[in-house]
Amino acid sequence: MNILVTGAAGYIGSVCSEVLLKRGHQVIALDNLQEGHRSAVPPAATFIQGDLADRPQIEKVFSAHKIDAVMHFAGEALVAKSVREPSTFYAANVACGVNLLDAMVRHGVDKFIFSSTAATYGEPDTVPIPEDHRKAPINPYGKSKLRFEEILADYRAYTGLKYVTVRYFNAAGASADRGENHRMETHLIPRVLDTALGNLPEMEIFGFDYPTPDGTCVRDFIHVLDISDSHVLALEQIERVPGEAFNVGTTSGYSNLQVVQAAERITGRKVPHRLSPRRPGDPAILVASNEKLKRLLGWEPKHSSLEEIIQSAWDWRKRYPHGYPD
Ligand code: UDP
Repeated sequence: MNILVTGAAGYIGSVCSEVLLKRGHQVIALDNLQEGHRSAVPPAATFIQGDLADRPQIEKVFSAHKIDAVMHFAGEALVAKSVREPSTFYAANVACGVNLLDAMVRHGVDKFIFSSTAATYGEPDTVPIPEDHRKAPINPYGKSKLRFEEILADYRAYTGLKYVTVRYFNAAGASADRGENHRMETHLIPRVLDTALGNLPEMEIFGFDYPTPDGTCVRDFIHVLDISDSHVLALEQIERVPGEAFNVGTTSGYSNLQVVQAAERITGRKVPHRLSPRRPGDPAILVASNEKLKRLLGWEPKHSSLEEIIQSAWDWRKRYPHGYPD
C-alpha cells in the first residue's frame, strides 16, 4: 500500500515508517519539522515538508500522490505543555486532524489509523484499563485526543471512513537507527538516560505521595517497535475492525523510581535524582489491558520487557549522545 504517514519525522512516526517500509509498503512521509528531525525519516520514504494547518498544501499532497491509507502521528503530545497551552493542543490535535480527514474524503481515501493515548482515560477506576473504561481525561492533551476519537466516529457514520484508534501507554525504546529525541525532552526514560550520560547533572522525580507502592507514578512502558507492529496489524486487518479502539501496552506497570533503578543497573551508571512536587496533569497509575489487541489482531509484544526497552534506548542514546544531527 501507499501510506501517508503524518509526523513521520517524529519519534513513533519515524520508527513506524521504518517498519512499514520493511514490510514492503511505500511511505509518503509528511512532517512540518517543528519537533521532528529530517534525518529521522527513512531514506526510502518520499519526504514532504508540510503542515496540516495548511489545507491547500494537504490538497496538493493528495493530488500529487496516490494514497491508499493514512497513519496519523502528527500532533502535540506533552502533558505538561497541554496544561499551559491548551489552545495549541486543540489546534494541532483536533483542527489539523479535521483538515486531514476532509482531504481524505475529497480524494476517496478511506483507511485511517489514529495515534491516541492512555491519557483519554484519566485516573482509572480499574487497572489494567480495558478499552471500554470510562473516559475522563484530566489534561487538555487527553481531552484533545478524545475529541478527535469522537470526530472519527462521526466521519465513519457520515462518510464511511474506516479507522482504527490505537491508544498508546508510555512509548519508549528505540530501533537500531531511530530513537526518542525531542527538542525539549520531558519524558522519563530519555531524561533518566541523559542523566546517566552526564548531560543532566540531576533529574527530578515528579511526585512521591501518589497512592502507589513507592509513592511515585506507575506507567506501562511499551516498545516503539511493538507500537509500530500494532499499527501495521490494524491497517492490514482494517476491514475486520473498522471503528475499533485498541490499547497498546504490556499490562505491567513500573514506578518512576523502579525505572531509575533499572536504568542504573543496565547502564552501570548512577542517575542522581531528587523527589519533587507532582507535575500537573499526571494520573497516578496507567496500565493497559492488551487482551483486545491480542485477541482481535493477533498482536504480541516482542520487545517490551523493561530491560529491552531501556537497553535499546541506551544503545541509541550512546550512538547519538546529542540526538539527531539536525
Ligand atoms: N517524570 C519524572 N521526571 C521527569 C520526567 C517524567 O518524574 O524528568 C515522570 C512523570 O511525572 C510521569 C512519568 O515520569 O509520572 C512519565 O512521564 P512521561 O512524561 O515520560 O510520560 P507521560 O506519562 O506524561 O506520557
